[in-house]
Amino acid sequence: MSLIVQKFGGTSVKDAQRIRKVASIVTEKYRAGNDVVAVVSAQGDTTDNLIAKAAEITDNPTKREMDMLLSSGEQISASLLAMCLQHMGYPAISLTGWQAGFLTSSAHTSARIRRVMPDRIRKELDQKKIVVVCGFQGISRYDDITTLGRGGSDTSAVAIAAAMHADLCQIYTDVEGVFTADPRYVHGARKLSEISYDEMLELATLGAQVLNNRSVEMAKKYNIELEVLSSYHSVPGTIVKEKVRMEKMLISGVAKDTDVARLSIQCVPDRPGTVFKLFSKLASKNINVDVILQSVGRGGTKDIAFTVARDKGELALKICERFSELIGAGEVDYDDNIAKVSIVGAGMESHAGVAAKMFEALYNRQINIRMISTSEIKVSVIIDKGDADRAVSAIHDMFFPEED
Ligand code: ASP
Ligand code: MG
Repeated sequence: MSLIVQKFGGTSVKDAQRIRKVASIVTEKYRAGNDVVAVVSAQGDTTDNLIAKAAEITDNPTKREMDMLLSSGEQISASLLAMCLQHMGYPAISLTGWQAGFLTSSAHTSARIRRVMPDRIRKELDQKKIVVVCGFQGISRYDDITTLGRGGSDTSAVAIAAAMHADLCQIYTDVEGVFTADPRYVHGARKLSEISYDEMLELATLGAQVLNNRSVEMAKKYNIELEVLSSYHSVPGTIVKEKVRMEKMLISGVAKDTDVARLSIQCVPDRPGTVFKLFSKLASKNINVDVILQSVGRGGTKDIAFTVARDKGELALKICERFSELIGAGEVDYDDNIAKVSIVGAGMESHAGVAAKMFEALYNRQINIRMISTSEIKVSVIIDKGDADRAVSAIHDMFFPEED
């Protein structure tokens, strides 16, 4: 007998028919003699709709009340799934985040899980019940309801799997697994049978949007193998784990991110400390800087360009303008008509020429590269936003030719 944690995303529980399908997936494992904990997200667009409801009342809701509001979405799906299981004749019980023992920080709307104390879950499992847990929520030490940030249910599932030493953690979603590119847009995108935590983390932060990146961080930390699979079609998904078989692939995926903005400051005095001062100002406002480019200095000055998430663009611009004035630098330029396209793959570490191959694909389509950054398992380029889709396809075709 094994303990299995299964997480079902919003589309998987969006209506009664989908909930029945989820119940059949859960009960299949239960009937085979396993203990099953099902973690659920809010149905379909519920969370977005709740946010819109708050906006009808005020521009500036307190975060505590937002958590009170948003946590209700998961309560709806958990109770409906438990009812469905009971209706089918199975013993089942739904639990809120706090009943399930999720203790979190008190940072409302983006709380961190501090501990999971799964005593209640265990007690219910011992009574042979299927336990349905509300994802995305917990409780602070002040006994207030908290939520974990958008997409947080993935993390709830991994946290339960870690705390209870589950034998299997399955993340059910509306795609069949992790693909070499977004299969909705990229012709010939293939499902990966396995991917490493590190590659998945790069892809998650690059906007591949299959798994929440905190959940992957946590899975890596506690060495929990994840299986990402579809609740629509019962075919094998993608396993996310520490080490993967090399499938003679140089890269695992191509991702694009169009929510980026580039800032540049011209004629920054070329002396020690300028970059440090600028970036610590940005950091103090919680702005993450991504791709950074600094020109070779000329005439005692240099140019600095960098990218940030687009929603931080305006604030970053203000900081840069103030900074430029303060140190006597030149013009500040802002552009959010750009995209970041990246390739990710552990294969890069042992193969030369991967970046060149990517650049060749872009050259073949006459796509201009504006900035480049690399790490051990990733190469990113900044290009014009209008070129993004063509770039992804060109790069994907180059690394995953059709006849392969
Ligand atoms: N319902 C929450 C959201 O939409 C949490 C989740 O789905 O994981 O972000
Ligand atoms: Mg999700």
